[in-house]
Amino acid sequence: MKSPLEAPEKQIAEETSAKAEKPAPPVIDTSKMAKGQREALELAEAARDPLEDRGSFASNLFVGRYDFDRIYPYPAQSAEDRAAGEDFVSKLESYLREHVDPDEIDRTGEIPPENFKGLAEIGAFGIKVPKKYGGLGLSQCNYGRAAVLLGSWDGNVAALVSAHQSIGVAQPLLLFGTEEQKQKYLPRVAAGEISAFALTEVHAGSDPATLSLKAEPTADGSEFVLNGEKLWCTNGVKAGVLVVMARTPSKMVGGKERKQITAFIVDVDTPGLEIAYRCRFMGLKALYNAVVKFTDVRIPRENIIFKEGAGLKGANDIEYRSAHVTRSVRRPFQTPPRNLEEMGGRAHSVGRADRQTRRHCRKNCRDGRRRFRDGSDDISHVIAARSQDGRSAHRDRHVQNVGHGNDVEDRR
Ligand SMILES: Cc1cc2nc3c(=O)[nH]c(=O)nc-3n(C[C@H](O)[C@H](O)[C@H](O)COP(=O)(O)OP(=O)(O)OC[C@H]3O[C@@H](n4cnc5c(N)ncnc54)[C@H](O)[C@@H]3O)c2cc1C
Repeated sequence: MKSPLEAPEKQIAEETSAKAEKPAPPVIDTSKMAKGQREALELAEAARDPLEDRGSFASNLFVGRYDFDRIYPYPAQSAEDRAAGEDFVSKLESYLREHVDPDEIDRTGEIPPENFKGLAEIGAFGIKVPKKYGGLGLSQCNYGRAAVLLGSWDGNVAALVSAHQSIGVAQPLLLFGTEEQKQKYLPRVAAGEISAFALTEVHAGSDPATLSLKAEPTADGSEFVLNGEKLWCTNGVKAGVLVVMARTPSKMVGGKERKQITAFIVDVDTPGLEIAYRCRFMGLKALYNAVVKFTDVRIPRENIIFKEGAGLKGANDIEYRSAHVTRSVRRPFQTPPRNLEEMGGRAHSVGRADRQTRRHCRKNCRDGRRRFRDGSDDISHVIAARSQDGRSAHRDRHVQNVGHGNDVEDRR
């Protein structure tokens, strides 16, 4: 599915054109894994696009292929797009300077209600929402500029605004929503009704396959009944509407039972939904993060986002296309934002991969050292220096470290 929020067509075409010369072998051998682990991996893998379709720099790293052409040159924002965002970015900067006191927010652990109102008035809750639904209709790049500004001023406000529209209701609907869903919810969230995303549970974090919040269809199939509990839902305390990831009945795929995860739009005032607890964090003192309980919460079928069973796939797309907080403008390796999201995910996955992948890693590192010695590539320098023995954990760390370093620089 395409949307105007995606990278330019040319960039997508370039990124997806470099395909494997011959089909890559399965990246992860699940045959010897315990049942739970195998199911978890199969569910996560089923939620990804096939490698050939993804074809990005990072996903190819995962199978031992370099293709630096895909990440150079770093794409600059066009003058026209920059000009379109100028008015909002300067309004936001003035608003932050004049009305948002980060020290006070840190001291009290609260963002004052007038800040919610003020940010809504300048359009900060609907930056990418098209004008016809009441938003500013700005691009991902301009959203990124706003995110940098927010992140440089106050992390709590940055998290509020970002979780609301990058993983909360706005972005999933922009990418996958029906016209009815867009008309119903986008004007609300663009005007400042806070939204949030609820995936994590006590036993489901990095591994969403273990998610247990159930959504059972009613006898006539017109509704789903949600039961369970969500943890660490950013903005949950203030939200009017949530995106909730839930387990719907399993399906048989190729003779095997496949667990299904489905995303629902859930109004917080639906009977049976309770914001049970506000979680507090050491750093972000004013994060409005919640434990949310669901007891026989009835949600109409039309509130499914995308389609039944496609929740995890949608969440993957939302995560890497929305560029949560400042990730959209980080520049590790000078990559475009889409690749950065994938790069983080893939590099992290390397840590979980089997021996075959580790062999690829070692080969990559040897190549990296060689190319560095040749002076042919500075990225290889990083890969070589940080992954000296080729162990996946090293590479995992080096991407995280380099990513963080660039992030800090970009907040100047
Ligand atoms: C500030 C904050 C805001 C959040 N906001 C939201 C939100 O809005 N909505 C929401 O749904 N969730 C939210 N979360 C939860 C967040 O998504 C989870 O914390 C995250 O998915 C990791 O899950 P976990 O904490 O259970 O860690 P775990 O999954 O238990 O992981 C713990 C550690 O083990 C590593 N690890 C896990 N599995 C493997 C493996 N197979 N191989 C190697 N290493 C592994 C992880 O990288 C991590 O370092 C938030 C969390 C925080 C801290």
